Amino acid sequence: MMRFETIFTLDTSSIKFGPGATREVGYDMKRLGSKRVMVVTDPNLANSEPVSTTLEALSLESIDAVLFDEVRIEPTNKSFKEAIEFAAEGQFDGYVAVGGGSSIDTAKAANLYATYPADFLTYVNLPIGKGQPVPGRLKPMIAIPTTAGTGSETTGVAIFDFLEIHAKTGIAHRALRPDLGIVDPNNTRTLPKMVAACTGLDVLSHALESFTALPFSLRQASEHVSLRPAYQGSNPISDIWATEAIEMVSQNLIRVLRYPSDDEARTKMLMAATFAGIGFGNAGVHLAHAMSYPVSSMVRDYVPEGYPPSHPLIPHGMAVILNAPATFRFTGRADPKRHLHAARLMGVDVSDAKLEDGGELLADAIINLMHQAGVPNGLSAVGFGPDDVEELVAGTISQHRLTKISPRPADADSLKDLFLDSMTHW
Ligand SMILES: [Zn+2]
Repeated sequence: MMRFETIFTLDTSSIKFGPGATREVGYDMKRLGSKRVMVVTDPNLANSEPVSTTLEALSLESIDAVLFDEVRIEPTNKSFKEAIEFAAEGQFDGYVAVGGGSSIDTAKAANLYATYPADFLTYVNLPIGKGQPVPGRLKPMIAIPTTAGTGSETTGVAIFDFLEIHAKTGIAHRALRPDLGIVDPNNTRTLPKMVAACTGLDVLSHALESFTALPFSLRQASEHVSLRPAYQGSNPISDIWATEAIEMVSQNLIRVLRYPSDDEARTKMLMAATFAGIGFGNAGVHLAHAMSYPVSSMVRDYVPEGYPPSHPLIPHGMAVILNAPATFRFTGRADPKRHLHAARLMGVDVSDAKLEDGGELLADAIINLMHQAGVPNGLSAVGFGPDDVEELVAGTISQHRLTKISPRPADADSLKDLFLDSMTHW
């Protein structure tokens, strides 16, 4: 007989927040007991201030720090393996990631496989990998985000592109969660505008998806406590973090894009990213994220401004937000009240609105923000057309971890409609 879940958890990394906090990484790494640390970053940041501040702070505490600056933006199984090899050879007893979600996720994977060596597919999510739980504690890890986006510093998830099968998947287990996230507004001062727009809209979608996710109590209970998923569905604690984040992004994103030196708006965006990360790291995200993975994997020749021109790329946050309006138009029916509440948090006047319009009003509010932020107008603007829909649907259906917590079940036919609805927004 099916048994519903009755328990939920709130797990998160410790957070240290504020301008200049990066300088404390040496103290914290020492406190965690590490003496030889792998510092993980991408080539664009190798000579940046956040990285040099980190290296100095570690050396001041006599910690041996080795820089690995080969992270690929939107990592792949191949780029993960390079970092894992570096980690295995280096005999590290601690990890520091400095960068966006790509660097933080790469450090998580390096730490995992260097600590518990295994065939690569062992810990990768079902159905692509074997989905085995991580056997125990990992080495201490500190994450220092340089974008106000992924919230990866708070979560136990590492996402990568599986090149052989052309699909994004990941590794999700609470043991992957960094011990500490050092969230320092000084580190996001020089974000290119499109990077700030995409990462900021990703934050918004994290918060909206986790707030509207299937309630944890409507999920089938796991057979064993060890199998309870990291993404549990919405719950009263994650709601608090998600709703705060929705308001903060809506009030500060456009401000920070227009005036990057606005310290207050930039700090609020970074705080929103962390708040949303705490929410979705426990509740999970659903359709907009599930649909984003094939969109990013199937990129042809789109190269966004502000990102390294080395390879075509649909940045994660862009791939997510392009599918968000259609997602909430579709899920609105599952819980109109929540969707209407989310629209209100985004600043929409809902005093005369009908409850059943919740999904539609929320979709409109997102489109309005996307338009102002200057992201492309739908999937058609990044190279997709109706002929791609079948492959996009196939790449979404394999994202079980996410589709399972959609508040309204989405079969292949509905996903097809959702992708068609995401082609153009205004
Ligand atoms: Zn995301």
